[in-house]
Amino acid sequence: MDIAVNILGNSLETHLPQILADAAEVGVSPLINIGSNLAESSASIELCQRYPRQIWTTAGTHPHHASQWQATSQQQLRQLCQQPGVVAVGECGLDYNRDFSPRDKQRHAFAAQLELACELGLPVLMHERDAHDDFLAIVSEYRAGLSRALLHCFTGTREHMQAYIELDLYLGITGWVCDERRGKALTELVKDIPGERILIETDSPYLLPRSMRPKPKSSKNEPKYLPFISQTIADLRQESAADFAKQCYRNSQVFFNLD
Ligand SMILES: [Zn+2]
Repeated sequence: MDIAVNILGNSLETHLPQILADAAEVGVSPLINIGSNLAESSASIELCQRYPRQIWTTAGTHPHHASQWQATSQQQLRQLCQQPGVVAVGECGLDYNRDFSPRDKQRHAFAAQLELACELGLPVLMHERDAHDDFLAIVSEYRAGLSRALLHCFTGTREHMQAYIELDLYLGITGWVCDERRGKALTELVKDIPGERILIETDSPYLLPRSMRPKPKSSKNEPKYLPFISQTIADLRQESAADFAKQCYRNSQVFFNLD
């Protein structure tokens, strides 16, 4: 199971049947598609109807799009979250690296989505980049009411990791860990994530694992490369690749409440 892919509006959408078949052939199924704003979440729900049990979706507003969040957005999202195919609220959170939306808007939209996840009893898929302190403060405020909470694409420090584990968050690891330059610090950390709190993801079409050999011709990442990421992490944790993949699959089932 690939717990974070971004199918809509790029080459994954254009070649979706092939992308799904290639992934399934190497045991990667289902895919969790990310809804990054309300319109995309709605389109993603339709995708789930076209590919039942192969694609599930999140519904939410990414911090990049937080400036689109309005007074009526929480009610709109509440309705989307009740549609079949939706397995989590998100992607939501804070991104002070890009600052595509004003920070106060980001914090407001994030808090409103956590509040909704608490109300609906849904798990939440979150994003944090260069915003650890504010992120931690907001999640802490809602944590007791949240069923399950995941920080996807974790790339932070050991101190951040420990704070997130203390809050009982799941941590999603991408092919960032396969980057010998940027991912070096992360390679030292993945072995210390509790086995029942680690999830694996490609974040396709972004973050093509850099250490794959031979290098894929296209720079676009795909869900079919998840086993490579899984193998890399299993090696770092000194676990068998099969056992680690099984554990991650099981963790994903529990997190998204899928059978
Ligand atoms: Zn993200």
